[in-house]
Amino acid sequence: MTSRVVVLSAPSGGGKTTITKALLARRPDVGFSVSATTRRPRPGEQNHVAYHFLTRDEFARRRDAGAFVEWAEYAGEWYGTLKSEVDRVLHSGKHVVLDIEIQGARQVEQRYPAPQSIGIFILPPSAAAWTERLLGRGTESPVALARRLEQAIAEIRQSRTWRHIVINDDLDRAVEEVSKIIDADGAIPHRPHGERVNNLVEELVREADRLRHGA
Ligand code: ADP
Ligand code: 5GP
Repeated sequence: MTSRVVVLSAPSGGGKTTITKALLARRPDVGFSVSATTRRPRPGEQNHVAYHFLTRDEFARRRDAGAFVEWAEYAGEWYGTLKSEVDRVLHSGKHVVLDIEIQGARQVEQRYPAPQSIGIFILPPSAAAWTERLLGRGTESPVALARRLEQAIAEIRQSRTWRHIVINDDLDRAVEEVSKIIDADGAIPHRPHGERVNNLVEELVREADRLRHGA
């Protein structure tokens, strides 16, 4: 087995954190790259476990020292993948999962061209399920939520360009699909029926717009 960089991306509330956790629990051959961020911890998030929580100064210092494989601004905060994290997991002989947004995903794709990296985009199964999950999580202020929705619209619109797309309907099934993509070494494009993705994209963009104006 050759260790790969597995990029999981999704609009906020799409389920990438949940799928990542389930994947790590299920597969001992997969490890996680703990990202750095300038955002504040949510209740229950431990430093160095969920993220390395950094001040802007510290983040900028590490960025200028070339410590990041990629970094991006998302909803007003900085997020980045540390090269030391990716190398730590790859050197232990495991695949490394990055739970990152799409600007970072594009940078990873260039730094680790396929087949070294496998990019998977997660979509929620419907506007109703997405709203329930996103709002049900209850972790964002209205302003932060509006920013995330704006970002989500751009991400969802670009979802069709991904080689692998998984619809996060039933969690077990979504994790299984991600797992199969990894086992196939990313070689076989995994996409739901084109019409289904097109309709879903339109439905989700409409919903994000509705929520954004109501938020
Ligand atoms: P993301 O990391 O993409 O922002 P999360 O993993 O935090 O999304 O998921 C958002 C919310 O949706 C969480 O409360 C999570 O428990 C819930 N969730 C995720 N996947 C599913 C699923 N397949 N079925 C039901 N709820 C889900
Ligand atoms: P959250 O604040 O909800 O934890 O994450 C916000 C967004 O930042 C999510 O899309 C998440 O995947 C992304 N993210 C987390 N870590 C990184 C990272 O290291 N790099 C980039 N580019 N995005 C990240």
